[in-house]
Amino acid sequence: MVRWPVPESYSTKVPPPSSPGSFWEDRGDRHHCGVDIYAPCNSLVVAAESGKVEYIGPFTSPEWIPYWNPTSSVICSLRGGYFIRYAELGEVWVECGDQISFGEPIGRLGPVLNFSLIEDESPAYIRTLKDRGHQCMLHVEMYRTMPDNDPHYLGGNWFGAGKPQGLLDPSLLLDHCWE
Ligand SMILES: [Zn+2]
Repeated sequence: MVRWPVPESYSTKVPPPSSPGSFWEDRGDRHHCGVDIYAPCNSLVVAAESGKVEYIGPFTSPEWIPYWNPTSSVICSLRGGYFIRYAELGEVWVECGDQISFGEPIGRLGPVLNFSLIEDESPAYIRTLKDRGHQCMLHVEMYRTMPDNDPHYLGGNWFGAGKPQGLLDPSLLLDHCWE
């Protein structure tokens, strides 16, 4: 059983290939490692599938990029050996080691972007998000193996050649949701 992870999202479909927020979107100097689900700020985030919380940590920070606000990410292991990352959360309500069931609340979306610090020099996809008023979104990634702290990865983007090890298209899971 798979539950759409943001009940209040503007759409209950993942962004189509090559569109803003789509999986492996080409952002010029970087690629998007997941999909973005746009929703009002403070929207509830629920577990898409049952699993165990393996990691909780910072995802974006103004110390890394000035136009970012602090947000967190949660990585859960799923049955079948897969891993899912829920990111750009303003509040996290679970703890490492927790067993969570599909549909169980795990937190709320936070305002990942500080619109006042987005400038003409900021990346085009960031300026597009500001133009569209998308300050909050759930960034979802899926992996075949537990993701490590690769220096080519930052805030859901991949700056290296190839792809992160074990990275999968989360549409494989999210295209089969119960709303
Ligand atoms: Zn994203």
